[in-house]
Amino acid sequence: MRKAGIFVLLQALLFLCADGLLARDLSRIDTVRTHLVIPRPALQPLKSLVTSDSDPIDTLSTANEYIKVVLFADNTWQYIKLPGYQAEKDVFEKNWDTVASNPYKLEQKDLPYSWSIWLVDSLDQYHCPFQGDIHPRGKFGPRRGRRHQGVDIPLKTGDPIYATFTGKVRMSKYLGGYGNVVVIRHENGIETFHGHLSKRMVEVGDWVNAGDVIGLGGSTGRSTGPHLHFETRYQGFAFDPQWLIDFKTGDLRHRLFVLKKKYFSQYSNYEQDFEDEWKNEEEDKKEDAERAAMRWHTIKSGDTLGRIAINNGTTVSALCKLNGITPKTVLKIGRRIRVR
Ligand SMILES: [Zn+2]
Repeated sequence: MRKAGIFVLLQALLFLCADGLLARDLSRIDTVRTHLVIPRPALQPLKSLVTSDSDPIDTLSTANEYIKVVLFADNTWQYIKLPGYQAEKDVFEKNWDTVASNPYKLEQKDLPYSWSIWLVDSLDQYHCPFQGDIHPRGKFGPRRGRRHQGVDIPLKTGDPIYATFTGKVRMSKYLGGYGNVVVIRHENGIETFHGHLSKRMVEVGDWVNAGDVIGLGGSTGRSTGPHLHFETRYQGFAFDPQWLIDFKTGDLRHRLFVLKKKYFSQYSNYEQDFEDEWKNEEEDKKEDAERAAMRWHTIKSGDTLGRIAINNGTTVSALCKLNGITPKTVLKIGRRIRVR
């Protein structure tokens, strides 16, 4: 990716040199984001935008008219994607609906087992929607007989709420229990829901970049105090946002996310499942160790339990217990019994 990027950059430089001038479209630079994400391996967690403090000094064209390269005074650079590029993607056309909270109308049985989703790359960045502690009673899962489809993070009314990735606003309205809600569909296909806002700052159809303020936190709708209700959905199905984001640190957990269908179950909770997977691993290890320690003896003519016990440094009752037999069990020649 980086190599390709440098190639594009060189191409753009060659083009500009041949043209005999270095285009300085500063009016455009002022409107673009000046953040830089340092490339890291796909599965490493990612901080909210790693920003360059440096001033943008130039924009360069690339082979794609919608993609520009911005150069900064500290010799770093970043790709910038113009909205026209996004508009070409059919993720914003298929199942596009500004009224229904779930426009996909799919059944879980028709879905594949899992998806691999690139959350960020050199063009798509990330920003934590709101960094904070999830309320102990605000986790994903069943709550008071209903399904809690997201996480609740307490805040102060007026705190800014950010777009998590690049995307387009699919809904922005007052909706029952959600109060003021903003729903954004992202290029990676994931939708984010932001509920109980005191103010919505984007409208249906707006393009947003990761880190844009889309509204202010509040307590509208069914809410007992100021908090952000945050949901992540894919193909219309909600899954625990903690699979993506560590809200305490604000980190994105990975660049490439493997979303499993089982995460759509209301009982699939990140903390719970993570713990279960860890427990299973411990138990598997224990079983493997036990299996490795097992010793067996094949019955030969003339064998008795007493002699087998003596030869293996154990007792008849221990042998009986291990093999589910009694001292009176007839030992058939060729049968394998466990001695340890
Ligand atoms: Zn909630």
